[in-house]
Amino acid sequence: ITIAALRETAAGERRVAITPETAKKYAARGLRVLLEHGAGDSASFPDASYSGVEWGDAAGVAAAADILLCVLPPSAAAINTMHSDAMLVGQLRPYGAAARLAALAQRQVTAFALERLPRSTRAQAMDTLSSQAAVSGYRAVLLAAEAAPRFFPMLTTAAGTIRPSRVLVIGAGVAGLQALATARRLGAQVEGFDVRPETREQVQSLGAKFLELGVSASGSGGYARELSAEERARQQQALSEHLRNIDALITTAAVPGRAAPRIVTAAMVAGMKPGAVIVDLAAESGGNCELTRPGERVEHGGVSILGPLNMAAGHPLHASEMIARNFAHFVELLVNKDGVLAPDFSDELLAQSCVVQGATVKFVE
Ligand code: NAD
Repeated sequence: ITIAALRETAAGERRVAITPETAKKYAARGLRVLLEHGAGDSASFPDASYSGVEWGDAAGVAAAADILLCVLPPSAAAINTMHSDAMLVGQLRPYGAAARLAALAQRQVTAFALERLPRSTRAQAMDTLSSQAAVSGYRAVLLAAEAAPRFFPMLTTAAGTIRPSRVLVIGAGVAGLQALATARRLGAQVEGFDVRPETREQVQSLGAKFLELGVSASGSGGYARELSAEERARQQQALSEHLRNIDALITTAAVPGRAAPRIVTAAMVAGMKPGAVIVDLAAESGGNCELTRPGERVEHGGVSILGPLNMAAGHPLHASEMIARNFAHFVELLVNKDGVLAPDFSDELLAQSCVVQGATVKFVE
């Protein structure tokens, strides 16, 4: 069995799907590990840092792969080079990607989109959404701190005392909780809010205050559901007042497969302090703030609104280490101890993440 990874081709992508550490693990399982030259360069894993690996060019690697691992979906050219019965494993962004899924089915490439894994205890070690969201949440705070005209910590100096910044994080999923922890480590006064009531304790355990907005909306699978119009209005009313005193706002609210909920309106931004900063981690799926422009920084009445994209690629060495370990755990479901491909499709982890099986597209939005 040949397990392989290409140099990622998505714009700005710097992560790699196989690291020196996981390459060794695969080799120990009797797999042949094949990488495109320079695959790990931008994650600070030069070719020389890998051992027991074979190297090739993109077309040769894609054609030889029995299991191709990818951080983000590979190019159409790479997909069209894969052999039938090969497997593609990675963050395949299956929503709104019917053409790509059809191309995979046409090649009879069985594809697993790991963002479809259930959020269960057993799937945790393979959960790329979680591992990469932690990177994004951390980075969001660094961006906010860098963009802010104020300090985050309290400082007591001969030139007087500086008050700590007030940081609010909306959406206390994996990214939001990491953002709260990071902002607190920087010395800010932190508050968190989520529509899932079970997040209250998680927010408080990080030393943050839970903001009470009187809206509760747990959905299925541990995710939030969409709010009704009335709930949204209530949330916005309460939030408007609160935002007047916030120095940095990090928004991370998402509902799987849907456009991000619009939580922060232009009017709410207009009521914020001059110099306040918003980092909208939901920019990729449309943004939690009405003024967010994906990939850009917008200035509005003295408030900066950042809509960064693909944040996990911003710390590619550690993000790669984490996602590569997620992949290695998933591959254990595909390859048995003797190094033979033996996926058990009755396993719910495979069944739920499989978006294309042979010639059949299984994922329906
Ligand atoms: P996500 O990226 O889907 O959403 C981010 C957060 O936004 C969520 O906490 C969600 O409740 C919140 N949100 C949605 N609409 C909102 C609104 N209108 N206002 C405010 N907040 C809103 O979430 P995620 O980080 O992927 O986590 C999803 C769930 O999976 C969480 O319950 C998380 O704890 C759980 N999880 C479980 C495991 C496990 O192994 N058991 C692992 C990882 C995550």
